[in-house]
Amino acid sequence: MGEFELIASYFTRPELLARYPQVQLGVGDDCALLRPPAGEVLAISTDTLVSGVHFFADVAPRTLGHKALAVNLSDLAAMGAAPLGFTLALTLPQVDEVWLAEFAAGLHALADAHACPLIGGDTTRGPLAIGITVLGSVPPHLALRRSGAQLGDDIYISGSAQDCLGQARAGLALRQGELALGQLDAQQALQRLECPSPRVALGQALRGLASSALDVSDGLLGDLQHILRASGAGAVLDAPALLAMAESRPVLPALPQAQRLDFVCHGGDDYELLFTAAPAQAAAVAQAALAAGCTATRIGRIALAAQGLQVLDALGQVLSLAGGSFVHF
Ligand code: ADP
Ligand code: MG
Repeated sequence: MGEFELIASYFTRPELLARYPQVQLGVGDDCALLRPPAGEVLAISTDTLVSGVHFFADVAPRTLGHKALAVNLSDLAAMGAAPLGFTLALTLPQVDEVWLAEFAAGLHALADAHACPLIGGDTTRGPLAIGITVLGSVPPHLALRRSGAQLGDDIYISGSAQDCLGQARAGLALRQGELALGQLDAQQALQRLECPSPRVALGQALRGLASSALDVSDGLLGDLQHILRASGAGAVLDAPALLAMAESRPVLPALPQAQRLDFVCHGGDDYELLFTAAPAQAAAVAQAALAAGCTATRIGRIALAAQGLQVLDALGQVLSLAGGSFVHF
């Protein structure tokens, strides 16, 4: 199977134009043509997954297709943007049709769930890597930036009845043979690691409510620092609130308390939204989360920059939580 046959078989879909009005021209020409809604700005983000760095080489191709798009959709969510479409830069060591069919199925299923179709890309030979550029749109004044957190704002983390921060880290420990979990907990932890749910509806529901936002990919404390730096602020986090959140979901209750807090504070790959909002918006935030089928847990508040980032225990004493989030270089 040659390059063009491969693109035609797995990455070209005849129903594209009929199904997605925002696409004027899809795969097959030198560029795709997209129609963003009038008056909105484009939100654009790229994320690459490299075999052996971002995923285990033997991971199921269907979940890999899902995750490659999910991490990109999560960036749109964090900006409050609505998805329009995406491009795929695929580097493959060889053509394996079974693998490709599964990968494409996972990719297109998530794409359809978010009305975010594949509109073009590039296909090359080399070590397995998946680069996706996602395009979305948002009214210019409603984009959720990292720089808007204000003194006294509440800090929230998203989740769901089943999901919370730290579960993906448990999935990683499980995959690396460093952790044993019961069957249901193990399933949930691996699901979170390999098949994250981008909070696209929540991101849009937070337009005009959240003062700042980002998606947590590298760990809560490290990623919160990005908001604090961009906003010129400090923060006080409430360890009991973080622990209560973890204890009311599967997976983490099975771990010793110190490890539980470590996974919640430093674990990566959960793709939850971390955001801030004025205390007066608390009811509206809860309503937005409910409407989006998510939860929003208040985990602290924005403080003066001079306070830095502190995590307090139940007695109000500062916990020392060494270690930052994952960095490549
Ligand atoms: P060009 O040489 O003009 O860059 P290519 O030959 O690389 O175009 O690709 C041909 C068409 O197939 C283009 O429309 C491109 O967007 C699309 N395409 C290539 N690879 C992929 C892929 N992995 N997924 C989706 N579309 C792809
Ligand atoms: Mg060309």
